Amino acid sequence: MTEITQIRMSDYPGNRPAREVWQTTHDPLPSLREGQVAARVDWVSIDPGMTGWISNKRNYMPPVRPGGVMRAFGVGEIIESRSENLAVGDWITGFLGMRSHGVFNDRDVRTIDVDLASPELFLSGLGMTGYTAYFGMMDIGQPQAGETVIVSAAAGAVGSIAAQLAKNAGARVIGIAGGAEKCSYLTEVLKLDAAIDYKSENVAARLDELAPAYIDLYYDNVGGDILDAALERMKYRGRIVVCGAISQYGKTNKQEGPSNYLQIVTQSLKVQGFTMRDYMHRVPEAVEVLAKELQDGSLICRQHILEGLANFPAGFEMLLTGGNQGKLLIRIDH
Ligand code: NDP
Repeated sequence: MTEITQIRMSDYPGNRPAREVWQTTHDPLPSLREGQVAARVDWVSIDPGMTGWISNKRNYMPPVRPGGVMRAFGVGEIIESRSENLAVGDWITGFLGMRSHGVFNDRDVRTIDVDLASPELFLSGLGMTGYTAYFGMMDIGQPQAGETVIVSAAAGAVGSIAAQLAKNAGARVIGIAGGAEKCSYLTEVLKLDAAIDYKSENVAARLDELAPAYIDLYYDNVGGDILDAALERMKYRGRIVVCGAISQYGKTNKQEGPSNYLQIVTQSLKVQGFTMRDYMHRVPEAVEVLAKELQDGSLICRQHILEGLANFPAGFEMLLTGGNQGKLLIRIDH
């Protein structure tokens, strides 16, 4: 009988550090019902959105239930099937959970083509991360040649792809990230036009220097003070894509909104948030564009790989401290 390792959330962490609620259990693999498959999970993704999934506040999807296996995107190979649509040897992705193996309803997972790219890429550049960057930047932001585009958390998973897509569209792109290594990655490797190190530089002063004619488009991943600095420097009729606000994710009591929000009125700004549920029907379009750009080298996708599920608690904290360099993934050794 296959024994599976799973990370469960014992309770909503609330004000406690999340590491206090993770529990590892070893359980037998359940037997399959009609329409189900069993899979070995090889890779799982750690995402900032998990902070919302472990809170019982209203969100875009229901939270993880106390005692339940932590929700996570994963990729794996089918090892047993009672589905007419999926066969042993097929590779799948979806919410496979923070676990080594699992049983899934065939309608809840999607097959991936591992001849197109290696499996883990379907959790980064060719997965939710890539789609978020693609639809947020290209469908909502719509960068134009010659425009000044600012991207925060630009060395991270979504930000780095969003920034490169804007650059490929001909915009002048300035990335904001924490630390000298990440900033030199932005200018030297991703070839952005400039980078701002928000940990050692004054973001407002640097934006004045680098964007004296103001900002056409701001792709916001962080909220907080950086959003405030950008709001004050938007062009008349500028656009802001609100992808996330990671600077606020640790604040379970009260998240702070931008104090410069009246600039939305005075500069007639267009501000739009989104989640991927708005775009699931258009995923094939994103895969086609992203796969082509990843293959021809016009898009670079950096991955930060941790070994084993035991690294999940530390990995989760890394996202909030900036310890990750690129898309944070766990490889599960079987
Ligand atoms: P990243 O790979 O970008 O990792 C998170 C990064 O955020 C860290 O590495 C760190 O980079 C930065 N960060 C952490 N705390 C702060 C802070 N207080 N101020 C500024 N930067 C901070 O993660 P993702 O690319 O997966 O996610 C990026 C954003 O996109 C998040 O807000 C996330 O919620 C959002 N998102 C939204 C989706 C949607 O559908 N709307 C889907 C997926 C992600 P640094 O070292 O530069 O500080």
